[in-house]
Amino acid sequence: MLIDVDFIPGGLIVLDTANKVTAVNQSLCDWLGREKADLQGHSPERWMTTASRMYYLGHVLPSLRLHGHAEEVFLSLTNANGEVLPVILSASVCSPNSEGYQLLLLPMQRRNLIEEQLQQARKHAEKAVAEKDRALQDLKALTSELELGHQELAILNQQLEQLATQDALTGLDNRRVYDREMAVQFSLFQRAKHPFALIVGDIDYFKTINDSFGHDAGDQVLKEISQQLSVNKRELDTLARIGGEEFALILPNTTAEHAFLVAERKRKEIEQFVGQYGTVTLSFGVAEVRSEDTERTLYERADQALYKAKKAGKNQVCVG
Ligand code: GH3
Ligand code: MG
Ligand code: MG
Repeated sequence: MLIDVDFIPGGLIVLDTANKVTAVNQSLCDWLGREKADLQGHSPERWMTTASRMYYLGHVLPSLRLHGHAEEVFLSLTNANGEVLPVILSASVCSPNSEGYQLLLLPMQRRNLIEEQLQQARKHAEKAVAEKDRALQDLKALTSELELGHQELAILNQQLEQLATQDALTGLDNRRVYDREMAVQFSLFQRAKHPFALIVGDIDYFKTINDSFGHDAGDQVLKEISQQLSVNKRELDTLARIGGEEFALILPNTTAEHAFLVAERKRKEIEQFVGQYGTVTLSFGVAEVRSEDTERTLYERADQALYKAKKAGKNQVCVG
């Protein structure tokens, strides 16, 4: 039975030894949009792209002539409309005895399509990776910004804590710290009966300093006295400015007798200190916590002792 090759799903060309088409099937004519008569007598590279033509003449044909065959060569044909048709070509001599070559061309459109799709997919994947990298970089930048924000916040908090606890003029602890420490000492006293004492001190004749030298001079004296009071202060003690020219010293684990000695030592030190505006003195009131005390009554007892010291001529220490 003879096989009709005109309409098989592949192109067939028979060439003579001079590379001229002697026969061609209908399928190839249809692909190229040409009549059989147009193709016969011509060289097949005529319907190839420039690159394919060069490859055909430079490699395929010489290989065919030399070895008698050429396999799986990728070529691109061009049809009458100028469209490119990728094909895979296998060729061999016609038969051992007859002269000429037979070329089988199979379309590769689908394979090319899949390749294109694969390339597209790869491009998408690369784009996605690049975007992910960019997002990661943005995230890193944001994270370090956030860390910087946290650091700034920590510094601000520290400054805020300082503002909230420090007396602006003298740098001593302020009334808030005094109240907090008193509460702490009271709770320790109530739980474990730890004694503690309170000393309040008030500058004598302070109004006269303001009146004689001005308010700034008064401020300077307040700073100097604060400095003097701070000298040799125990780590556990709390020294606070609780009024205009009034100071408090909370002494944990301390009895009235011992607190008296502390106040007396401070009084003497200040009496001997000569500041920018001469010498000033302080009067002190001392009180030790009692079991019936509240924070208020303990302070009142120390304040009454201070009043007594003022009444008795100032620059002295009284125990309440
Ligand atoms: P005493 O010996 O009885 O304590 O009399 P004093 O003059 O020291 O006390 P007084 O209560 O009569 O006057 C206190 C003065 O302290 C009045 C007030 O204007 C002044 N003062 C309060 N706070 C400050 C301050 O921060 N700076 C200055 N320069 N003066 C202040
Ligand atoms: Mg005073
Ligand atoms: Mg006062």
